[in-house]
Amino acid sequence: MVTKGKHPKRQTEPSLPQVELPSNTSIKHLADVLRVEPVKLIKQLMRKGIMANVNQVIDFETASILASECGYIAQEKEERKIKISHPLEGGSKLQPRPPIVTVLGHVDHGKTTLLDMIRKTNVTAREAGAITQHIGAYQATVNDRKITFLDTPGHEAFTTMRARGAQVTDIVILVVAADDGVMPQTLEAANHAKAAGVPVVVAINKIDKANANVEHTKQQLADLGLIIEEWGGDTICVPISAKKGEGLQDLLENLFLLSDMLELKADPTTPAEGVVLESRMDKTRGPLATLLIQKGTLRTSNVIVAGNTWGKIKAIFDDKGKQIHKCGPATPVEVLGLGDVPRAGNVFRVSPSEHHARDTAEKQAAKTPRSSLSLSAISSQISEGETKTLNIVLKTDVDGSIEPIKSSIERLSTEKVKAKVIHSASGSITESDIILASASNGIVIGFNARVAPGATQSAAAEGINIYNYDIIYKMIEDIDKVLHGMLEPVYDFVLIGRAQIRAIFPSKGKGTIAGVYVNEGKIHRSATVKVIRGGAVIYESNVSSLKRFKDDVSEVNTGFECGVGIEEFNDFQVGDTLEFYREEKVT
Ligand code: GDP
Repeated sequence: MVTKGKHPKRQTEPSLPQVELPSNTSIKHLADVLRVEPVKLIKQLMRKGIMANVNQVIDFETASILASECGYIAQEKEERKIKISHPLEGGSKLQPRPPIVTVLGHVDHGKTTLLDMIRKTNVTAREAGAITQHIGAYQATVNDRKITFLDTPGHEAFTTMRARGAQVTDIVILVVAADDGVMPQTLEAANHAKAAGVPVVVAINKIDKANANVEHTKQQLADLGLIIEEWGGDTICVPISAKKGEGLQDLLENLFLLSDMLELKADPTTPAEGVVLESRMDKTRGPLATLLIQKGTLRTSNVIVAGNTWGKIKAIFDDKGKQIHKCGPATPVEVLGLGDVPRAGNVFRVSPSEHHARDTAEKQAAKTPRSSLSLSAISSQISEGETKTLNIVLKTDVDGSIEPIKSSIERLSTEKVKAKVIHSASGSITESDIILASASNGIVIGFNARVAPGATQSAAAEGINIYNYDIIYKMIEDIDKVLHGMLEPVYDFVLIGRAQIRAIFPSKGKGTIAGVYVNEGKIHRSATVKVIRGGAVIYESNVSSLKRFKDDVSEVNTGFECGVGIEEFNDFQVGDTLEFYREEKVT
């Protein structure tokens, strides 16, 4: 923190601004604090004969010399500082509740091992014996305090929840294997947690391995902006071996410490509300849903609504499979009694009556899917002053283009609107990117990026638009227009109908005519048409003629036959599909 001297009087009392520095700090962090470019500090060190890179950690003494050369007085910081991102809700009935923790990290870095080990060592023997199945979450007891772990590691599940409107997690444990260091999914997970505003505790795992390099991993984390406490940052970092159980108590204690600082509380006296974590259809018992209660108390015979399904709770089971009759905040339970299987991520609520529950569920079912979040829609929101930050998930073909694109995008920010790249990486645009954009009410921008299978579908389902560019200035120009709320309307080709070719006729002077049957939508004389054969588009042009019997018509509906001619195309085959498109303004 920089505190300026109030009355700088140069001659009498030189009053330089003060900065607080930790006992050890990285050059990068110090540069941030002193508001100078890291290279300036590196040059200062070089003049003293010290060769350092931006991640180099230096002690307080060295840092204070650099600080004074930059015009600051350094003071050593003592206190542990953690950002509190979940302010306490008001109300007198609030009571402390267990923290809800999700484990994220790169594949094979030990997430499952960690969750299993905590379960094994912190669920009492009697209870442990009773665990027959995983229900998607469990509660561990440490020194008489409870802690709830969500059992599906991986940020896809975490972010899917958010995309559906449910913020479940209080704390993220980011697992990084010390033998492998920070990997692409580590970065992704860190960004997902950041986008959700959830504090991260880093567990540097596999410290039992001979090739574990904890210090290097810490430096890599600093690169991600996760500066650990001993280097002056806010991030709690605990070295562990999930496999051997080493460091786990320390990790758990730190989770409690953080959870105390977050002052996690909930009112247990209200009707229950929470989130569906998992659901499945049991052949004999019917729909089963794992619920995480976030506030209030859930009781057997409560009527609940979850998304577009509802039901009267017939039975409640805790995470050990034991039947219980009521449960309070931050508890995961499995319930029986819903009419259908709800979606993971659906919010659930206790309803005052069956009638009310049915009504609410039906209304939910009738709701139209979320409108598409297109650049032009965002643009008009910005011009109406609704959106202040445009969140962007950026994917590029190669690593080298990330930084220049990212900084060009972020430079577009003005006082009123901010362009924020919440995640960037090289590689294909994946479902995970779509879900992150959806959860953050943002967009996905690709630069020469491939779209992975599944991502297109997921984008359609989430109502997220993918923008892929191959020219940087065009990308920047569009984003700039969005930010200034003046994007030109975008036109897109919308599918209006499909027809199948059943016969082919020669037509005098007009080449060949396809005799088709319209099996979907309607086809129009002014449409653009694509000829599809074997799943691939083999030709695209305009309709040249559309006839029913001998008459020219302007359109033909589903279930009718007609003759179609296509401009400069004669190579029809029986079985080809014709797709008809109309150009429409996309909003
Ligand atoms: P996940 O993909 O992140 O869930 O990773 P897993 O928990 O499945 O672990 C991947 C592999 O790393 C497994 O073979 C684990 O046994 C191993 N592993 C996990 N934690 C440790 C550890 O602390 N030390 C060592 N040596 N191996 C570990």
